Amino acid sequence: MSFLTLTHIKKSFGPVHVVHDFNMAIEKGEFISFLGPSGCGKTTILRMVAGFETPTAGTITINGRDQSALKPNQRNIGMVFQAYALFPNMTVFDNVAFGLKIAGAGKEEIGKRVKEMLGLINLDHLADRYPYQMSGGQQQRVALARALAPKPQVLLLDEPLSALDAKIRVSLREEIRLIQQQLGITTVFVTHDQEEALSISDRIVIMNAGRADQIGTPFEIYNRPATRFVASFVGTLNLIEAKVLDPAANRVTIGDQGVTLKERLGPVQAGDTVSLALRPEAGSIAEGAKGDTALTGPVVSTNFLGSVIRTRISVGDSPISFDMFNSPGLVPPAIGDTVTLRFTAGDLLIVRD
Ligand code: ATP
Repeated sequence: MSFLTLTHIKKSFGPVHVVHDFNMAIEKGEFISFLGPSGCGKTTILRMVAGFETPTAGTITINGRDQSALKPNQRNIGMVFQAYALFPNMTVFDNVAFGLKIAGAGKEEIGKRVKEMLGLINLDHLADRYPYQMSGGQQQRVALARALAPKPQVLLLDEPLSALDAKIRVSLREEIRLIQQQLGITTVFVTHDQEEALSISDRIVIMNAGRADQIGTPFEIYNRPATRFVASFVGTLNLIEAKVLDPAANRVTIGDQGVTLKERLGPVQAGDTVSLALRPEAGSIAEGAKGDTALTGPVVSTNFLGSVIRTRISVGDSPISFDMFNSPGLVPPAIGDTVTLRFTAGDLLIVRD
């Protein structure tokens, strides 16, 4: 049986339905991210697991036990929030010791466990500092140590990195993932940063207006988006409108250029419109580029993004972006040049609504 289960979970605030029939089974030791735009219900689900909100319907179990009758402090859950929620009048040591004291642990046990936790986050040398004497990144590491000290059965992370600057975010997310794997603790992480979710999760839940549009590994979510919403929310994607030419042969036209899809078109008629997705990294205009499919059009823009140059061509009514890896010898095409983008037909996905 899965370690953390959410079965037919619904949540309404008065007449507003915020979560619609959410179902998920999370395995022990899994790192799950909830990813989605503001207001889609991610935090509400996290708060229901923590016991801060009561589901309108449905059941949450942890390690086989129904949580509905348990208060937050009876659930043995560790939480880290977006804002630095350390106790300002306590040292780092006392902050990390807090949950252990509440649980009635002895002095020796507390000392040993706090030392262990501060070692885990590499802050043993700051045990006597107060929160105001530390950077935001250090405070969040202490918040993590404080959440983990009482050995919770589940760790909930509510956008713990969002107040930090970009560089610290990246190093701290890697540190969190490492510690999570080291301890094997089942973790649920809420974020609206897709790169964050893709880089550290075992599985991602893509939330859209209170529903899970897709639950899958980062690889599945990125490469096989189940819906148009997932396709546009995760990564930079070209969404291309195509006209069905010959359904039996999986043949469509983009602008006036014919393309044979690898994926089966299914029940459509000639003349129907279908949406296709193509990642900008899938194609190349380099001489000798491989690929059984080609689209030709004029360059309408080029954007220098550092490691890549994103170039956009126009094919029919569809602007199509593609990335060229930057290198000192690279000469990007000029606006107005006509170029041919090559890729394999399998990279062109049919997006179903
Ligand atoms: P964000 O990324 O902005 O935190 P979210 O996906 O976590 O967004 P939630 O905080 O779960 O979204 O909120 C989902 C919806 O529920 C929002 O429309 C919000 O206004 C509403 N909501 C949340 N808590 C309450 C509450 N206590 N009473 C009424 N409405 C609420």
